[in-house]
Amino acid sequence: MVTIQGKGVSTGVAIGPLYFYRRVSGNIRRYTVEDTEAEWRRFKEAQGTAIEQLGALAEKAREEAGDDAALLFETHQMMAEDLDFEEAIQDLIKEQALNAEAAVTDTSVQFAEMFANMDDEYMQARAADVKDVSRRILSILQGAQEGGIDSPVPVILAADDLAPSETVQLDKSKILGFVTAGGSSSSHTAILARTMGIPAIIGVGDALKPEMEGREVILDGGTGEVVVEADALVRDAMLKKREEQLELKRLLESLKGQENVTLDGQKVKVYCNIGSPDDIAAVKNNDGGGVGLFRSEFLYLKCDDYPDEETQFQAYREALSAMEGKMVIIRTLDIGADKQIEYFHLDKEENPAMGMRALRICLTRPEIFRTQLRALYRASAYGKLGIMFPMVTSLWEVQECKRACQAVVQELKDEGIPYDQDVQIGIMVETPAAVTMSDQLARYVDFFSIGTNDLTQYTLACDRQSSVLGKFFDPHHPAVLRAIKTVTDNAHRYGKWVGICGELAADLEMTETFLAIGVDELSVSPSAVLPLRNAIRKTDVSKIRKSVMADLLFP
Ligand code: PEP
Ligand code: MG
Repeated sequence: MVTIQGKGVSTGVAIGPLYFYRRVSGNIRRYTVEDTEAEWRRFKEAQGTAIEQLGALAEKAREEAGDDAALLFETHQMMAEDLDFEEAIQDLIKEQALNAEAAVTDTSVQFAEMFANMDDEYMQARAADVKDVSRRILSILQGAQEGGIDSPVPVILAADDLAPSETVQLDKSKILGFVTAGGSSSSHTAILARTMGIPAIIGVGDALKPEMEGREVILDGGTGEVVVEADALVRDAMLKKREEQLELKRLLESLKGQENVTLDGQKVKVYCNIGSPDDIAAVKNNDGGGVGLFRSEFLYLKCDDYPDEETQFQAYREALSAMEGKMVIIRTLDIGADKQIEYFHLDKEENPAMGMRALRICLTRPEIFRTQLRALYRASAYGKLGIMFPMVTSLWEVQECKRACQAVVQELKDEGIPYDQDVQIGIMVETPAAVTMSDQLARYVDFFSIGTNDLTQYTLACDRQSSVLGKFFDPHHPAVLRAIKTVTDNAHRYGKWVGICGELAADLEMTETFLAIGVDELSVSPSAVLPLRNAIRKTDVSKIRKSVMADLLFP
């Protein structure tokens, strides 16, 4: 038995024979050409074919793994026709009379090195993309066949590194898992493996030897462990784990369409957090009951200038229409602090988390606010909209927000533009001030949504961005949990509903506590919906309420 430790990038246990990925021979001929124009045309033809192939791959990826995977190949298409890349090749062919294969190889090395030397980890990972695009053009120039899996049974596929185009071209029914010598967790192969639900481990170096090919390998994408010819004890333990995971997956699948209801009949809504209308597909796929937090600032972050009313309207309408009448709560702009946008020209501050951010910007720059509110109300005609305001600390802020909403409604009325008259208005509770004032704030809003990420930060005076605070940043801290109880009780006193949309909402250790407190809605990332539903359906609130309350009083 040989045990190898790598880095797990896609969870799940897989077992099967080891198979080394075979790539087309990499011997590049290098020679001087006489007719440089003809050589240039040969390159242009190969480049054109590569761009066509990448278009077809984008479609295949879209079918198998969704829009994000397709985007990768569309990016490769752009790389293949990048002018700098093309010019470098042109210089080598036309000025130095180098053959096309050698010119592509040299340019690929130069560009990959440039990316690899960048500080940003994401940009570094793009070195693999340049190599992938170049390899494709080269194989077309050489008239080569693509590599593949020549095995009658499904295998654990090992490679030095797999280019995304290689990954997507492989016959998935033949792959039980991936192991690569190199790679990074943000590499697209890792992303694709996760999207396709195939266990994957990267970074095992040269630990897998050619003579191991064909032997039985077990890999655990959760722990990053690769075991070659496991002994009976280890094999049984890993197979048991695999069975448990498959069982859980089957159970979660079977929960689609089921209610979020406890054993004693308490219902809670499970909604989703999204950053763009593209995420709605995941919401529906995971059976989310609505959108509890649409972080609208991502729309602004994607633009080079303030997105106009029409751009925003289209995005909000798309989300609302796609949710087909289910609630979509869109949070107004929440920039500043960790989310900086150049074109807002915000002053540099000593403590941006406590500075000019979120609602404070909207209330100081009413034109920005008005544009967003107009887009939101126009979109309200296409579904069930809730609007919520972030970083509230005072009653007057909420009153100003409501006045701004009323003014926009009046404008639309005067202009004869349709809107929904029942848009729910809520606030995020993410400051200690909002908690303390929640008995008053509840009178002015339809709902509260507790942002535990910021609420923990401000309650415990712990920077959520800090990597050194460790146990001091504790979202389970009784001060945070008591705040959630206070807010819930105050909302219910006025007949208003309360949700939680911070990361804590998906923390299954906290599910019983939130149910006992009586929270009405939990908004989580789409992939967390079914595990949360599972936890809710196993809880008997009548049995745990007393002990949860005692823990809150006497932690
Ligand atoms: C929060 O603070 O909990 C929250 C959901 O908002 P964000 O993480 O976007 O600040
Ligand atoms: Mg927040």
